[in-house]
Amino acid sequence: MTPVTVFAGRRVALFGLGGSGLATARALIAGGAEVAAYDDGEASRAKAAAEGIAIVDLAAADWSGFAALVLSPGVPLTHPAPHWTVAKAKAAGVEVIGDVELFFRERARLSPDAPVICITGTNGKSTTTALVAHVLKQAGRDVQMGGNIGTAVLALDPPAPHRVHVVECSSYQIDLAPSLKPSIGIQMNLTPDHLDRHGSFEAYGAIKERLVAAADIAVIGVDDEPSKQMARRRAASGRPLVKISGEQPLDEGVFAGITANRGTLDTRIVQVLEGKPRVVANLAGIGSLRGSHNAQNAAAAFAACFALGLSAEEIAAGFRSYPGLAHRMEELGRVGRIVFINDSKATNADSTEKALTSFRDIFWILGGKPKEGGIDSLRRYFRNIAKAYLIGAASDAFARTFDEDGSVDYERAGTLEVAVASALRDAQAKRGEGEIAVLLSPACASFDQFPNFEVRGDRFRALVGALPGFVPYGAG
Ligand code: ADP
Repeated sequence: MTPVTVFAGRRVALFGLGGSGLATARALIAGGAEVAAYDDGEASRAKAAAEGIAIVDLAAADWSGFAALVLSPGVPLTHPAPHWTVAKAKAAGVEVIGDVELFFRERARLSPDAPVICITGTNGKSTTTALVAHVLKQAGRDVQMGGNIGTAVLALDPPAPHRVHVVECSSYQIDLAPSLKPSIGIQMNLTPDHLDRHGSFEAYGAIKERLVAAADIAVIGVDDEPSKQMARRRAASGRPLVKISGEQPLDEGVFAGITANRGTLDTRIVQVLEGKPRVVANLAGIGSLRGSHNAQNAAAAFAACFALGLSAEEIAAGFRSYPGLAHRMEELGRVGRIVFINDSKATNADSTEKALTSFRDIFWILGGKPKEGGIDSLRRYFRNIAKAYLIGAASDAFARTFDEDGSVDYERAGTLEVAVASALRDAQAKRGEGEIAVLLSPACASFDQFPNFEVRGDRFRALVGALPGFVPYGAG
């Protein structure tokens, strides 16, 4: 834990008692603050109260006594409307901040030069965060990873000169962290997302840009126009910048994933330093880093780790042993030449697109609670599909798309259990020699049949793990 001492002896209001809220309350109390906490959920309040956190009715409290309101990132700060606690704080002149802000204030006090890498962007945050942390750890560094992934930032060990913090930051967390100042700030990419919470695409981009603008070294993806402009503004400031790309050559920076003319992905990572290019790593054969999106993630991870003093060899070795994150094109293992891929996190067509472009001869399990637009946008990848297996509520709609298209052989499997059995039977019957994939990439939410995408992916893992002849990933 990183005790937060900057509010020692003062009263702090805290709203939101989920995982990060609880961790924040504990860190504030450990640092000597008096915390007045609240949450709309009775169970959350009871859980906090059971460990001695004071539950206070903030609606009736005297706000003039609070030094700050600490908000959970899930609670609206500005849009669609400020939360009532924010209105009360504003009226009383009380600052509104989040856990990442508390972490940076504590770092400023404890160890202002302690290395902190912060990662943001619309997509690829978790993968890049996990990859950076893995590479650093493999190279023998003392690493703490958390934030928007896994462990809440204040539950991590405190900042120290020889300890690297690798922190995933959502736009909500950045919005609540005015003194965020990473040693290395990574902005991956920017596409419309969460606009209901930020008001506009411009506002959303401006929040993300704050993370790189404040960083000692900025690593910025230049594969979309808004991020490219962020890189331009950073370059104009004259402060250190490393541009990265997952799809185009750069005259300076780190790039990867250039698609050769026959449509195959070039898996080499190239670093251009002072105009001199050199191949620094190769993602070929790394099951956890397939696809051009992962090439962008690896380019960003390379840039950050290199800036921290790792050699290209150390970084390349780290890539090779990266285990990958669960449910994101996760290679579970094989039965003979059939590879089983769990992409349960792909809850919309955009995410599924990444998987459909990363394999050929796909036995595709899809469906669930459909999203707007369905799978129409995926038609141009249907030629990669050997057969599709429909599950859940989207079955009728998706069957219609396949019928209209006419090129995809499909089966209404209904459940994941039936789909796995059918896909295995068909994949085993397929002639030929190359790798073939049984892919769960639903392009749908899971809620019609599962509590969440994790449970759906875990169920797939269990079904596949029980197949005769199954060899788990990494087991040889
Ligand atoms: P985040 O933490 O930003 O949600 P993840 O690393 O968890 O991102 O990846 C979630 C999904 O986003 C992946 O399954 C993949 O479909 C897609 N994705 C990952 N990296 C990228 C990237 N660099 N660019 C575009 N899409 C990506």
